[in-house]
Amino acid sequence: MIRTGKAAIYEAPNTPFIIKEYPVRPARAGEVLVRISMSTICRSDIHSYEGKRPNPCPGILGHEIIGTIAELGEDIEKDMRGDPLKVGDRITWSEYFYDGDCYYGEIHDMPQKCHGVRKYGHDLVADDPHFLGGFAEYCYILPGTWILKLPDELSDEEATPINCGVATMASVTEAAEIGMGDTVVVQGLGLLGLYGCAMAKARGARLVIGVDSVADRLEISKKFGADDVLDISRMDPAHVVSSVRELCKPDGADAVIEVCGVPEVIPQGLQMLRIGGRYVLGGLVSPNANVTIDANMLVKKWITMRGIHNYHPRHLIQAVDFVLTNRKRFPFKDIVDSKFALEDLDLAFKKASERSVLRAAIVP
Ligand SMILES: [Zn+2]
Repeated sequence: MIRTGKAAIYEAPNTPFIIKEYPVRPARAGEVLVRISMSTICRSDIHSYEGKRPNPCPGILGHEIIGTIAELGEDIEKDMRGDPLKVGDRITWSEYFYDGDCYYGEIHDMPQKCHGVRKYGHDLVADDPHFLGGFAEYCYILPGTWILKLPDELSDEEATPINCGVATMASVTEAAEIGMGDTVVVQGLGLLGLYGCAMAKARGARLVIGVDSVADRLEISKKFGADDVLDISRMDPAHVVSSVRELCKPDGADAVIEVCGVPEVIPQGLQMLRIGGRYVLGGLVSPNANVTIDANMLVKKWITMRGIHNYHPRHLIQAVDFVLTNRKRFPFKDIVDSKFALEDLDLAFKKASERSVLRAAIVP
């Protein structure tokens, strides 16, 4: 009997998803076949869907995915921590994979930036093995992916955003070198910003300031560790900067994190910093994010500025452990606030796109 599975196909930008069935073949050596339990709609899925960034179509979108092992290929016995894997285990895995020799991985310890690195949710569905995205019943995990078993304590809602949003923020907050007693500003309180506030607190920050223009987000960020919030919809840029500097005694913030994707906030972020402060950009993932800054400020103030894209495999482990150990302190379970069937993916994308939900989940 030929096994098949359903998938919601992204035929072209801004057109309805179409449910189709594709054959499910046995897992080959080095592969894992997963029965998807949940996938969530990331902002980058919406950018693809709206045609703002190129993505092969027809394809299956979605890269924030968890599921249970349906079949283990030969040569796969353990996860990245060394825990044995078996059929039925619930797992998460890196949103990217790369199989082979790589200059960046081997020489610079940046496997996430290998030339030719592939990401889930970015392939043509016509090609074998068809299932390489989140909005489907199955997903194949291909060689070169980092796999991690999920602790039973975590709900699907807590676990699904781990392999994109949470792991990315583990990378960002590490790059910002947030430590004990720091004052930290988070520009943008979407999903990344909320995890960013919580991680800054968990890393020992004494003061976390959340900056956004959406009232609901400012409010919810207080539950995720923001001590103070600034509603920039009612403030001019100079006032935003002076308010932060007033709060961060004696001379400005130790670290500022950009996760809003708006280049215009960069000059403000730099002006918020103390001498020797760190500025880390994580949200500007689209090209042409042009902005004018006074580079003399970088020199005189000894400012470190860094961009972060994707995450190292260690951040996936840190992300799971962070959510597990802080789930009573911060309400991570509330981030995934709506669930949809695969057939209702259009509605889910609409709600996610208009931001009337925080994180929309698909339960296929
Ligand atoms: Zn994502």
